[in-house]
Amino acid sequence: MEEIYCFAGNPLDRASERRRDSEWIRSLFDDPRAQILPLCDLRPLTRGAEPTVLDWQPVLPWRDLVERGATLVFLGLGEGRPYFAVDASGADSALVRDREAIDARTLAPLLPAGEAAILAEARSLVDWHARHRFCAQCGSPTRVTAAGWVRRCPECKASHYPRSDPVTIMLAIRGERALLGRNRRRPGSRFSCLAGFMEPGETLEECVRREVHEESGVRVGRVRYLACQPWPFPSSLMMGFLCEALTEEITVDPEELAEARWFEREEIRAMVARAATGPDDPTRVSVPGPMAIAHQICRRWSYGLDSL
Ligand SMILES: [Zn+2]
Repeated sequence: MEEIYCFAGNPLDRASERRRDSEWIRSLFDDPRAQILPLCDLRPLTRGAEPTVLDWQPVLPWRDLVERGATLVFLGLGEGRPYFAVDASGADSALVRDREAIDARTLAPLLPAGEAAILAEARSLVDWHARHRFCAQCGSPTRVTAAGWVRRCPECKASHYPRSDPVTIMLAIRGERALLGRNRRRPGSRFSCLAGFMEPGETLEECVRREVHEESGVRVGRVRYLACQPWPFPSSLMMGFLCEALTEEITVDPEELAEARWFEREEIRAMVARAATGPDDPTRVSVPGPMAIAHQICRRWSYGLDSL
């Protein structure tokens, strides 16, 4: 079985084959057991101090907002109970009183694994609706159908579907050393795997080789897939790889990286261990925390769990 990282392992049955059945979806919305997750400006409402949980609510108080046009998406079924998300950005303050809306990036590491995955689904979809109100083909306003999984244009009849943007993220290996980069937009001494968006007409392997060469000047040969992770900022799929560096000389792309450096396996193992136990010590080099797939790739390689 594959390893499951933050934002993966969604426990809901998306019932995708029935989402176009509007009668069925309406009956789910009327089901007294139905639960709804409100997101205010993409931040989910939460409940409680310790531990923090998503504020799943009964549907009834939200019915009026949905009838007035707030975006509603069907997330799936869990143990027979329907789950929805609503864009609560314009909700009356009475509905969100005593609730705290927390940014998904801050909240996710505190949530149980399945909840973080449902949050990823909800956040990506609500964000997609907010940014795709008009038809990309003719410019007319589009309408939500299929329980929030399609937007249809009433003028030109085009259907628009939510998309995920594929990103490759990779650790280039040369013997007992691996290549990490420090982003120019991020101050401090945080290093991470190199990464970049796939381009049209490119295979995953070609994308890995292009990104490593573009960012660091290093040439890459063999590429091996490790694992992937949904990343709802706003809607990426992070696909993780190990790859074989054929050259060592580094020439960074100053648009992307402040620095790239070869690290010994032991150094990376120590950085992973520090990142797993606490916040960065700004005086020492670091890697991202366990929420990020970069951490998991570094962990797997530095602990000898994976090789090329
Ligand atoms: Zn259109």
